[in-house]
Amino acid sequence: MFEKSTWIRLPRNVVVGHGVRDEVVDVVDDLHLQGRPLFVTSPTPRTVAADPIAADFEAAGIDPAIVTIEKATFDAVERVIETAEAEEASYLVGIGGGKAIDIAKLASHHLDMGFLSVPTAASHDGIVSNRGSVPDGDSRHSVAAEPPLAVVADTGILADAPWELTTAGCADIISNYTAVMDWRLANRLKNVEYSEYAAALSEMTAEILVDNADLIRPGLEESAWVVTKALMSSGVAMSIAGSSRPASGAEHLFSHQLDRLAPDAALHGHQVGVGSIMTAYLHGGDQGIWRDIRDALSSIDAPTTAAELGIDDETVLEALTTCHEIRDRYTILGDGMNERAARDVATKTGVID
Ligand SMILES: [Zn+2]
Repeated sequence: MFEKSTWIRLPRNVVVGHGVRDEVVDVVDDLHLQGRPLFVTSPTPRTVAADPIAADFEAAGIDPAIVTIEKATFDAVERVIETAEAEEASYLVGIGGGKAIDIAKLASHHLDMGFLSVPTAASHDGIVSNRGSVPDGDSRHSVAAEPPLAVVADTGILADAPWELTTAGCADIISNYTAVMDWRLANRLKNVEYSEYAAALSEMTAEILVDNADLIRPGLEESAWVVTKALMSSGVAMSIAGSSRPASGAEHLFSHQLDRLAPDAALHGHQVGVGSIMTAYLHGGDQGIWRDIRDALSSIDAPTTAAELGIDDETVLEALTTCHEIRDRYTILGDGMNERAARDVATKTGVID
């Protein structure tokens, strides 16, 4: 008897392009959202996006509440929840880089409310995915949240964001190669649930980005277009899989561990990129695709070494040898690398000297 079932949740509207900041009110209308929105933003995105969007809402007779958060913390999530309740908001709009959107996502999950994602930087695939995470003391609070009802990504604003945020978004996508390798391995060894569609989409997304690497240049609005569409596609792969597996393997565990050991040292995407070079080596050995990953990263100006991340060699080794403990996710790291093996892979791939 056939007993499988799946429930795929996707954003209903995805609006990407030049000047689409002006279309947020139309998107809300299209979704038939009623009542008062709460905008969740942070200081710079507030000026470039949240305030102008608030003016559009006011012109349409809707009075949005706004909360500005400084740091992505669990306290900030609580503050957003309290503000939403006090202001009687009926949906949330996350306007900003990863921070504001992650917080809006987690708060909306808790409040059982829909949210819109209006990214001002194409820095990671959290702008569209159904996963949300914020640091919570020494660990990370990560939940299976809902994907946004809509994503409105204005390439004019995204192209003005600091260049390293865009290269971080690219590196996050390039790391899909190793995330999918880990997923297949976990499927073979541990019978982890696997989706061929999601895996293929995730890999193809990375491939298209690498093939278009010459369009990824500072100040080129088309870069923001290419990267944002790839981030959307990665998010869709996660929604199809119902898990972050298509875009998150051992390279993400490595990055989460670096976040603990060296907080705020480097951007998420840049850390997973460097992690991906090393885990590709672990999968394929010297003849594997690790050089292709490294060359793709360096062609878009993303870091390929510990020094370029601004993280010392010993911290990289500590992250490599301990990150398998972070969560119950089977990857090429298995039950952990020993120190000599970690030093070996980091040296052979040129990540450390
Ligand atoms: Zn990521």
